[in-house]
Amino acid sequence: MAEALVHDISWNIDYKFHLGSTWSRFLVSLRDDKTILGTTCKACERTYVPPQAYCESCYESIDTWTEVAPTGTLHTATVTMKSFEGGPTAPYCVAAIRLDGTDTLFIHHVGGFDLTNPQEVDANLRMGTRVEAVWAENRRGTILDIAYFRPIVG
Ligand SMILES: [Zn+2]
Repeated sequence: MAEALVHDISWNIDYKFHLGSTWSRFLVSLRDDKTILGTTCKACERTYVPPQAYCESCYESIDTWTEVAPTGTLHTATVTMKSFEGGPTAPYCVAAIRLDGTDTLFIHHVGGFDLTNPQEVDANLRMGTRVEAVWAENRRGTILDIAYFRPIVG
């Protein structure tokens, strides 16, 4: 058996990334209006958040924008207890959320409770938990203009 070599490699590249018209409109709406926009396919009526310029289901071009409620239902979640370089500060939760009126899962953070407390995690991260967006105070046109989603109490 050949020896398996491992090399240490480091990349640190600064660059600009053009987001395109669909993602730009979505992020500007988060930043300026605290509004979540999706796109809706006229052919099959699927609503996408984040918005898509083409339907992943029937491949039609999409140009219909839909304002979506900042509330939804938790489908799955995971809590990360250890940070990694370039990532969020642990602990944090990444979840798949179906926003009301959409047909896709929106991946975002869920928080607003003690992620180090197993009882709170168990109580707040159940499939079907209703959640609402918490907006960042200083919005910069990024996905983190929604700081996180928090469970809706009551
Ligand atoms: Zn479609």
